[in-house]
Amino acid sequence: MFFVSLKAENISKRYGSGLLREGKCIFREVSFELEPGKTFGLMGPSGEGKSTLGRIIAGLESPTDGAVLLNGNPLSGMKKAEYAAFRHRVQMMFQDPTDSFNPRKRIEHSISEVLKLLNNQETKRLQSTKEMLKTIGLPEEVLARYPAQLSGGQLQRLALGRILLLEPEYIVLDEPTSALDVSVQAQILHLLKKVQDEQGIGYLLISHDEAVIRFMSERIGMLKKGKLDMIRT
Ligand code: ADP
Ligand code: MG
Repeated sequence: MFFVSLKAENISKRYGSGLLREGKCIFREVSFELEPGKTFGLMGPSGEGKSTLGRIIAGLESPTDGAVLLNGNPLSGMKKAEYAAFRHRVQMMFQDPTDSFNPRKRIEHSISEVLKLLNNQETKRLQSTKEMLKTIGLPEEVLARYPAQLSGGQLQRLALGRILLLEPEYIVLDEPTSALDVSVQAQILHLLKKVQDEQGIGYLLISHDEAVIRFMSERIGMLKKGKLDMIRT
């Protein structure tokens, strides 16, 4: 299998720096590598920069220093089309699934928006939607519902399902279960593991919850006081 590596190399982030201002350093010289089919767990107290690091790895924000490398190619040097491909290959999933869906549209609308990006034929779209619902364990009826008619767990399943339609190589999961009831949290974590086993997706799992990180991750880093310390290698 072709090995696609996603790497953070000596990444530092400062907010509010300018010509005459030093700004605030969030973290300094952070390095780690993501691998297909595996989970890197990023833990640490709140406010230490976990989400910032996640957004940088997903290409949504730039580091002040250092580089994000996909197969050795720096994100900062990518042309527009290459960057668009990167954004397709590396997806991000957030804490609150209600933010992921337009409250005024039925679920099928939000799903079809993603499918349109893929330029697939109508029959192919229908087929991949059905397969996706099977994967995430929801009945086809949910397509006709509005987000408010679904539970947090169901919506988080759908948020994942919509990402899976894009067949990403990596997903940055930023506190994916923190907004859910404890019983539902475990279901989502098991679903994430199943999907990873079946599709070989690499995860950067961000959580302040050590139990979640330990359960899910092959390798673990702790972001604290501006530094990343490896806890499990
Ligand atoms: P965590 O996810 O670990 O809770 P964050 O990455 O959300 O941490 O935030 C880390 C620090 O960076 C916080 O002190 C936060 O206030 C600051 N921060 C985050 N985003 C910005 C921004 N856009 N501008 C300025 N400061 C920010
Ligand atoms: Mg955060």
